[in-house]
Amino acid sequence: MENEVIIGLEVHVQLNKLNSKLFCSCSTDYHDDDPNTHTCPVCLGLPGTLPMINKKAVEYAIRVALALGCVVQEETLFYRKNYYYPDLPKAFQITQYDYPLGLGGHMLIKGEDGERVVRINRVHMEEDPGRLVHAGTIDRAKYTMVDYNRCGMALLEVVTEPDLRSPKEARAFLDKLRSILDYLDVFDGDLEGAMRVDSNLSLVGGDRAEVKNISGHKGVEKALNYEITRQKNVRRRGMKVVQETRHYDELRGVTVSIRTKEEAHDYRYFPEPDLVPMRIADWVPRVQEELPELPDAKRDRFRTQYGITDDHAKSLTSEIKVANFYERVAGKAPPKLAAVWIADVLKGELNYRDLSIENFHEDQMVEILKMLELEAITEKGAVEVVRQILDEGGSPAEIVKARGLGKAEDDAVRVAVRAAVAECGPAVEDYRGGNEKAINFIVGQVMKKTRGRADPGEANRLVREAIEEL
Ligand code: ADP
Ligand code: MG
Ligand code: ZN
Repeated sequence: MENEVIIGLEVHVQLNKLNSKLFCSCSTDYHDDDPNTHTCPVCLGLPGTLPMINKKAVEYAIRVALALGCVVQEETLFYRKNYYYPDLPKAFQITQYDYPLGLGGHMLIKGEDGERVVRINRVHMEEDPGRLVHAGTIDRAKYTMVDYNRCGMALLEVVTEPDLRSPKEARAFLDKLRSILDYLDVFDGDLEGAMRVDSNLSLVGGDRAEVKNISGHKGVEKALNYEITRQKNVRRRGMKVVQETRHYDELRGVTVSIRTKEEAHDYRYFPEPDLVPMRIADWVPRVQEELPELPDAKRDRFRTQYGITDDHAKSLTSEIKVANFYERVAGKAPPKLAAVWIADVLKGELNYRDLSIENFHEDQMVEILKMLELEAITEKGAVEVVRQILDEGGSPAEIVKARGLGKAEDDAVRVAVRAAVAECGPAVEDYRGGNEKAINFIVGQVMKKTRGRADPGEANRLVREAIEEL
């Protein structure tokens, strides 16, 4: 199936970590507020207002373009894209056209058969339109409401070449893109509408359908799967797939035709007269220099530096917060054990609860790992501890105690005591010979073996007991 499917994506990324919108000073922090409360004459498109570019937005855009391997152009220019629709009060969108900010990048993803290089055609800046809220489904709504809070938000459009070969690859691309944006700190993917995707799909030799404005990576995968079935059925019935724009109806899980495909000339693009061309070449070296270590590089480093598997390295580096958490833990506990418990256990438990890594403290993980290392707790017990911390909070030691998960802890100290007594023959003789202080040396060895987790008084008692029993 994969051999005959061609997919290209146009991904709209909201630069929602900026403080203000792209061309006005309205705040971007509208997600919890009432509709139409974050607007001004500029983003409402009132006559006589002028756009003023948000410099930080340009810098963020350069950051993303560089991270995707694009060549940032020396100069970039805004255009007016004219269309009449209620989400756009000016009746044109300020966007980029033939002088986009970045051209010709690429991204590596895990493809259907091995690594796949997905070429990036361009990265350009534009303003976000408002949000339409339909009463019911788009094709049957009796009325539609409009919220201009989103109008004028800085958007990046990332356009791929048609290099993707399956819905699953499309999803892998989006996951990776999200991960890179997360590292670049330009974007909060959890906010509503943060990333919206136009998905283009054709069967080899056929025309493509573009499914507009899908939010959610799972949604994209589902919509594309639906399109494959639909287009194959059209062919089977001896008809041709028409080039058109479709809408994905999430509730019904189907795509519906909304219009024939628009063409560039439909939009009457012309240069935005209220904004001058921007010379951005001079900024690039500094932004390049400040680029953080990106997911692929971090993954390679984790593998070599900590000796962990590639799967673990990948899992631990997909989110920057998780990667940082891992590194803090790996500085205080065995890195390989930490990889297993963070990638395989903690991440799964967080996902299940829809929680983020901030709900767990690195010291809690270190404590659990130490208990595991000492075999003071079983793996099953440790999973219980992780779960209880997430559900109710608390410290690992207290949970182990309260729930009697630490029976083995006693054992671990006893094991250490037996070993210390066996290894410290001369000190044992010394003690038996009447030198009370010799016991301290043996207790010291117990403390060392348990990495200080044994209670010294208790260890002292157990050492005496063990010597009696010799
Ligand atoms: P438009 O803005 O008119 O949709 P483009 O030609 O730039 O214009 O293409 C947009 C998207 O369509 C790109 O992501 C591209 O990869 C994808 N695309 C182009 N040709 C095909 C095709 N035959 N099948 C699937 N996707 C395609
Ligand atoms: Mg398009
Ligand atoms: Zn505004």
